[in-house]
Amino acid sequence: RIAVLGSANMDLVVRVLRAPKPGETVTGRSFSTVPGGKGANQALAAARAGGTVSFLGAVGDDAYGVRLRTLLADEGIDVSGLVRVPGPSGTAHILVEDGGENSIVVVPGANGTVRSLTDAHRERIAAADVLLLQLELPVEAIAQAASFARGAGVRTVLTPAPVTALPDSLLADVDLLVPNQHEAAALTGLTDVEAAGRALQRYGCDVVITLGADGCRCFGAGDSFAAPAFPVPVVDTTAAGDTFVGALAAAGTSDVRAGVRRAAAAAALSVGRTGASAAIPYRTEIDQFLKD
Ligand code: ADP
Repeated sequence: RIAVLGSANMDLVVRVLRAPKPGETVTGRSFSTVPGGKGANQALAAARAGGTVSFLGAVGDDAYGVRLRTLLADEGIDVSGLVRVPGPSGTAHILVEDGGENSIVVVPGANGTVRSLTDAHRERIAAADVLLLQLELPVEAIAQAASFARGAGVRTVLTPAPVTALPDSLLADVDLLVPNQHEAAALTGLTDVEAAGRALQRYGCDVVITLGADGCRCFGAGDSFAAPAFPVPVVDTTAAGDTFVGALAAAGTSDVRAGVRRAAAAAALSVGRTGASAAIPYRTEIDQFLKD
C-alpha cells in the first residue's frame, strides 16, 4: 500500500513558434490541458505499475479540480484524502517553442493550502507501507508527514523537486531520497555523482540519483550499484523521474535491483510517448517491455 502526499496540477500547454517578448502578442499553434503535478504523476505511476494507492492533497473548486479527481479515481486510486478547497486548482502555464525550449509558470493554487498534516492524512499514511513525497506542497507539511511516517514505521521516499534547501531534520526522516543529477548537485554543492550520493547518505537514507539516459546510481546501506537506462527513442521526458519513483514504490523492497530495473523500464516507456500523465505505463506494458 502506497500513500502519496503531493501536488495535483493542470498543465495548460501552448505550442508556439517563439515565446512573446514583454509587451508583445503572438499567435499560438495549439492549446491543450494535461493533468500533471509531481504528486499526481507519482500516484498514477504507482497505481498503473500495480500498487494500491491513496492520494493526499488538495484541488480547487474549479473544473480542473473535478477532472484531476476523476482521473485519479478512474485509475483505482483512493481519493478520499484529496480535499476540495475554495479557489483555483494548481496550474502550470507552459509555453513550448518550436525549437523545444520551454518556459513555465507554476501557480500552486490549492496545493499551497496544504500547510500542515491533518488527522485524515495521518490515518491514511499510517495505513500505508510507503509514503511518497515531493516538494510541490508547502515544505512544513512535507516535513510533518515524514516525521509522522518515521514514527509510524512507514518507509518514506522523497523526490527533492523542485529543489530547494531542505532542513536536516526532514532529510533525517527520509528512508530513500531520489534526486536527479541536478537536484543532487544543488542539495550538496557537489557535481560528482559519487561524491553527492555519499554526502546525501550521511543523513541516514538510501539514495538513488537518476541520470536520465545514463540510468541511475544507487547508494544503499547494504548494496551500492549503477543501473543502466533502457535505450529508447526519446519523444518527451516530462515525468520520467516521477514514473521511475512510482514504479519503484510499486515494486516493493524485497529485491532492490529488480525494483530499479522495473522503474527504469517504466520510465523508458514514458519517455517514448508524449503527454506527461498519458505516457505513464501500466503493469502489463512494463512486464511486456522487460520480456522483449
Ligand atoms: P527527471 O525526469 O526527474 O529529470 P531523469 O531525467 O534522471 O529524471 O530520468 C529518470 C529516469 O528515467 C532515469 O533514471 C531513466 O531510467 C529514465 N530516463 C530518463 N531519460 C531517459 C532516456 N532518454 N532514455 C531512457 N530512459 C530515460
